[in-house]
Parts: sequence; structure tokens; C-alpha cells
Amino acid sequence: MIDLKRLEIWFITGSQHLYGPETLKQVAAHSREISTALNDADAIPVKMVFKPVVKSPEEVFALCEQANQASPCIGLVTWCHTFSPSRMWINGLKLLRKPILHLHTQYNRDIPWSSIDMDFMNLNQAAHGDREHGFIMSRMRLARKVVAGYWQEAAVQQQIGAWCRAAAAWHDWQGAAFCRFGDNMREVAVTEGDKVAAQIKFGYSVNGYGVGDLVKQVNAVREPQIKALLEEYEASYEIPSASAKDEKYQGSLREAARIEVGLRAFLKNGGFKGFTTTFEDLHGLAQLPGVSAQRLMADGYGFAAEGDWKTCALVRAMKVMAAGLKGGTSFMEDYTYHLNAKGSKVLGAHMLEICPSIADGKPSLQVHPLGIGGKADPARLVFDTPPGPALNAALMDMGNRFRLLVNEVDVVSPDKPLPKLPVARALWVPKPDFNTAVTAWIYGGGAHHTGFSQAVTTEMLEDFAAMAGIELAVIDAGTSLRHFKHELNWNEIYYGLRSGLGS
Ligand code: MN
Repeated sequence: MIDLKRLEIWFITGSQHLYGPETLKQVAAHSREISTALNDADAIPVKMVFKPVVKSPEEVFALCEQANQASPCIGLVTWCHTFSPSRMWINGLKLLRKPILHLHTQYNRDIPWSSIDMDFMNLNQAAHGDREHGFIMSRMRLARKVVAGYWQEAAVQQQIGAWCRAAAAWHDWQGAAFCRFGDNMREVAVTEGDKVAAQIKFGYSVNGYGVGDLVKQVNAVREPQIKALLEEYEASYEIPSASAKDEKYQGSLREAARIEVGLRAFLKNGGFKGFTTTFEDLHGLAQLPGVSAQRLMADGYGFAAEGDWKTCALVRAMKVMAAGLKGGTSFMEDYTYHLNAKGSKVLGAHMLEICPSIADGKPSLQVHPLGIGGKADPARLVFDTPPGPALNAALMDMGNRFRLLVNEVDVVSPDKPLPKLPVARALWVPKPDFNTAVTAWIYGGGAHHTGFSQAVTTEMLEDFAAMAGIELAVIDAGTSLRHFKHELNWNEIYYGLRSGLGS
């Protein structure tokens, strides 16, 4: 469902006519070499496309216009091998609507001590050419990412790769449609928000659909479709031996499969990239979609429960960022705590809907009663999450702006098995430590719903927030509570001044 290789980043080198055709030929050859190396780098998941060196205001303008129009182009990498006077960039940059990364590198790695002459100096000029290039973007208050270092270094390529992933997710949001079955969970605040502001800011639309429209699709599902899906369930998951021949279990699975076939068809027909459900609005559905929501997430759909469209869209964006990387991404909720002086932890889970991309081993397909909603016992995949670094991200509507809050965590193995817990879960220790992290999260107004990932990094989300022009607050190993509180206060002023009227 998510294929990053068809997306393009355009590699643009700035120069000017002053140098003459010979030098410009060399500039172009070097640029081509660098863009090819970046295209071939494992860390960079998209195509890096070489574009002819720009030498005049007209060329910059035409190129920025082309980039805006080209649908596979998700962003530009710019670099000034030589000196490219920046006033020639103004009109182009003014209209550019694609994200931009300024790569501050040099074609030659080392100074050739014994042979260096003025020809070398005049060709390898990024040290001052890129300063001029940086100035104009700062002067124009343009959001961009600056990456500095030698272009063959792994760390440099990884930073470019992280930005490419953010740009892919940003591109994916433009024009995306998210489907909301029913409305918000009644009286809940943090899952609400301004959908008009979100559409202006983020480019995606969220629209509501009556659950009856879904029920119609679910009721139209035919027996062979259910049978085929049940066979897939059996091949993919552990079926508890006590349940295998149980009639009630089989009946529940059949209903779950019927819902999944109908839900898939509904989402496909509508061209949706994600959806929300709410247990308060299931009229006509036999059970709350559990295993179907889990499997659709595993296929790349965004999802969040209780009508939480912001988290749904965020989970989708994180799925795009994570495409092809090791580690899964899921909708998540901070559920309950282990508050122990020897090491406090958070147990994350949901009523049902955790993505099996984060499963440690083969999930178990189980049916249990659900305490709320008043529906039949729903089927769900139950599993633990493998230990290792991860993060939680939440997106809140603060009234005058959106805030993206990120907390880096370490997933740990449960102290003991949890044989009676009938839902998928992850156990983690937040950074810098439990008390600081959860205190900062609460000060930040952080939601209980998050996008959880063992693949997405803070750097990707930082780049993504910059592309969206929204506030980012990070809680990580370096967080000090006092500083974090100041940061939130400073952000009030900064975003308050910046937003003015409108979004
Ligand atoms: Mn919830």
C-alpha cells in the first residue's frame, strides 16, 4: 500500500554564469555524482533525481514551478558547490510549495595540501556559497532542514533519509481523505479539534459517515469471502486450542471476518487512507471492529478509536515514514502504570485495536467479552511488543495551533506473563525517567491516544513538524522539567505572534 520508491526528491545545485562553461560542466558532473550516490544510499528510501545546475533567476523560478507541478516530486535538496547569488533565488523560493533540505557539503572531502591552487578554491566554494544560500532562506523565514557534512558519510545520508521519510508522509497527507464512522466519544476533549484548521494546515480532509452505510456494505458480504478470510486468519495467527472447535468462538470470528471484508470494501471505494470508529455508535454492527482495525493498520491504514481523527491521520503519516524499516507502528493508548520505586513503567494498550506490526512473534486470535459498548464479544489479536527503543507521538489542537508532542521511550519485556490480559500491549519506560516524562507530558496537554512506533524517529517527526509549520515539543533523555515548562510558555508567544488571524 505504501511505496516510497516511486517518489522523487530533486537534487538542485545553484551556481551562476560568472564561472564560464568549463567550470559549470564540472559543477554539473560533480552534482550528478553526488545525487547518484544519494540515490543509491540505503538510508535514502526515495529516488534522488539530478536536475541541471541553476544559474539565473529565470532558471530557479522555472524549476520551482516545475517542482510544484510534478506530482512525484516530494521535495528539493539544494546545494551550492560554487557561489550562487541568492537574490536570484527569491522569486522561485517565494512560490515553492515543496519541502526543502539544504545540504551543506563539499564535493572534495580533503584539502589537497600539496596541490591546492586557486582553481580548486574557486570550484570547492560551498563553505561560503552555502552561507549565502542559507542567508536568503533565513531572511525569507523559510522552514527547511539544514544537513552539514561530507556527502558520503552515513550520518549525513541518514539525516537526508529521515527528512525524505517526513517529506513522503507530508506528500501523502496532501489531498488525503480520512473516514470517521460516527462522531467523537461523547464529552471527550482531547480527541476533538478544528477539522477546517487541520485541512488548511495539513491538506487532508476528515468527513463523517453514518455507521449504517458501513453496515450495508458488511451485510452485502458473501459467504466465500468470509470463508477465504477465515482461512487467512487460521494461517496467520495462533488459534487457542480450547477455542478451535467452540461454536461461539467460530461464530464471533465469522462476524469479525464479515466486518473486515465490508470495512475494506468501504475504505477502498471511498479512497480513504484511514478511519476512526467509536464504540458509542455501532448500530447494526454485531461487534466493535477489533481484528479488522488491527489488520487494516498492519496494511498501512491510519486508525484511531473514539472518533480521534487527529491520531488516525498521525498514525497514517507515521506508517508512511516507517515504510520499509524494521519495527512496527500502531495506534496506542497509555493505559495503566506500574508505579514502583525500583522502576516505574507504562502499560500501553487499547480495548482491542493495536497494530500487529509491533507484535513479538505470532499473535493469538482470541474472543473475549468487552466491558463497554453492549455488543457481542469481539475478536482481537493478542500479543506482546518486543523490547527496544520506541516513541509515542500525540497531536493536539491547542485552539490557536496544533502541537505535536513526542516522548522517546524504551520498550521492556513484562516482568511476568500476563495470561489474563485479553488485549495486545506494550510495556515501556519513558525517557528521561518515568516521573519527569509523564509530568512533562501532562504539562504539554498530551493526549492519552498516540502514534507509537519502533521505526519512526524523533528526527523524522521534527522534520515533519517543520514542513507542517506546527509546534513540536520533545521529551527525551535531555529533558529538564523546568526548561520544558519555559519552552511551552515561549511557544505560546511565538505561535501566538506567528499565527495571527486564521489558522
Ligand atoms: Mn481510547
